[in-house]
Amino acid sequence: MEQFQVLIIGGGTAGITVAAQLLKKDPTLRLGIIEPSEEHYYQPAWTLVGAGTFDYAATVKKEQKFIPKGAHWIKDYAQEIDAKHNLVKTRDGSSLKYDYLVVAVGVQYDWKAIPGLKESIGKGGVTTNYDKRYVKYTWELLQNFKGGNALFTQPHTPIKCGGAPQKIMYLAEHYFRKQGVRDKTNVIFATPGSVIFGVQPFKKFLEGIIKDRKIFARFLHKLVEIRPVQREAVYQVTNLEGRQLTEEDIDKNIGMRLEGTDKVVIPYEMIHLAPPQSAPDFIKSSPLAKADDPYGWVDVDKNSLQHVRYPNVFSLGDVAGTPNAKTGAAVRKQAPIVVNNLMSLMKKHPLNGAAGYDGYSSCPIVTGYGKMLLAEFNYENKATPSLPIDTSKSRWSMWILKKYILPWFYWHRMLKGKG
Ligand SMILES: Cc1cc2nc3c(=O)[nH]c(=O)nc-3n(C[C@H](O)[C@H](O)[C@H](O)COP(=O)(O)OP(=O)(O)OC[C@H]3O[C@@H](n4cnc5c(N)ncnc54)[C@H](O)[C@@H]3O)c2cc1C
Repeated sequence: MEQFQVLIIGGGTAGITVAAQLLKKDPTLRLGIIEPSEEHYYQPAWTLVGAGTFDYAATVKKEQKFIPKGAHWIKDYAQEIDAKHNLVKTRDGSSLKYDYLVVAVGVQYDWKAIPGLKESIGKGGVTTNYDKRYVKYTWELLQNFKGGNALFTQPHTPIKCGGAPQKIMYLAEHYFRKQGVRDKTNVIFATPGSVIFGVQPFKKFLEGIIKDRKIFARFLHKLVEIRPVQREAVYQVTNLEGRQLTEEDIDKNIGMRLEGTDKVVIPYEMIHLAPPQSAPDFIKSSPLAKADDPYGWVDVDKNSLQHVRYPNVFSLGDVAGTPNAKTGAAVRKQAPIVVNNLMSLMKKHPLNGAAGYDGYSSCPIVTGYGKMLLAEFNYENKATPSLPIDTSKSRWSMWILKKYILPWFYWHRMLKGKG
């Protein structure tokens, strides 16, 4: 049986960053990375690919290039975790033993959680930038759009990059103006949330954009069905507190209609959505998952990122059960905490505890071509700006950051364990 001092499950943003930083600190570590994919993706640029302003090919590179020197790549799926005996079983039947485990497997897309979604995605006007198979279809839809309802929406589950469903909407709205079809188009944002963004001052700025650009925003709308034949999305309205929906609750300008006592139907020409998301099933059914958590995230301390029951296990990135916004930017701050804590644990030193990860995340909200604001915030939903300029308003410089600087930084610095 193969044995590793540190075994990492997942060689995406978090897994590779942690592996690279660990091996920089101690090149003699026997470190394994379980990752089935031959390719590594820079997902944040998929928003720009969907809007026709970034080359998809530049978002994909060979995984091999980023497996750090000295790491052992196990090209397989992890399938079962036996945390009592420090074992991970893979799909091909191997058992791998570890001293320390890092879980960084990202999210799973639950297509079947919304009836009609699995059958309709990728055709008939239904798309998502969240999956590599459909990103280019988003751009096709934008280019061929001749008017009608352009619906942008997100599921009721937590999602990675919670801002992405609205970023593509702002880009689409701008694109429709450039193409001269905007006056024939209703741009609609329907969300289960109660606000457009949870952190000030970004919320205020985005509310201004929604108003100025005449976007129809529908809050507390939970997507429950896609009807591809009729090109309709069905929403349950969640703020009714016992009363029934009435005609006053709907917006006839966008062709909405009532269905039953708590549902509305919105017709679409195109719909962009984020799929429902949760921890991969093998994590949900493992002893590492949080008890009573419907999404099955890994049960780690929100500051130290150490598992609350298995001290030799850490988790970070999208699969970690920490209450931050799930982004690559969060991973950049989490990785050094995991690395330092692992090194301390190996040397039997105390961990950094509450002085660890503060929930930092950032959301680069593209508000049109050439325009972006950068929302940075922590667990308390307090803005935590890191740049010497006011990034709470759209700026061209932030667009340059998103389109050119961050992709370069990702491939050449972050994945190499250099920042
Ligand atoms: C459309 C879109 C826009 C985004 N925009 C931004 C943005 O602007 N800024 C930002 O910071 N973040 C953004 N993100 C989010 C960012 O990409 C993720 O938060 C980040 O990649 C999380 O890293 P991770 O390592 O947790 O997951 P991932 O990078 O997804 O990696 C998970 C890895 O685990 C592997 N894996 C899965 N199952 C198994 C298994 N059973 N065994 C072994 N390995 C497995 C996968 O193959 C994958 O390589 C965006 C994401 C999307 C989809």
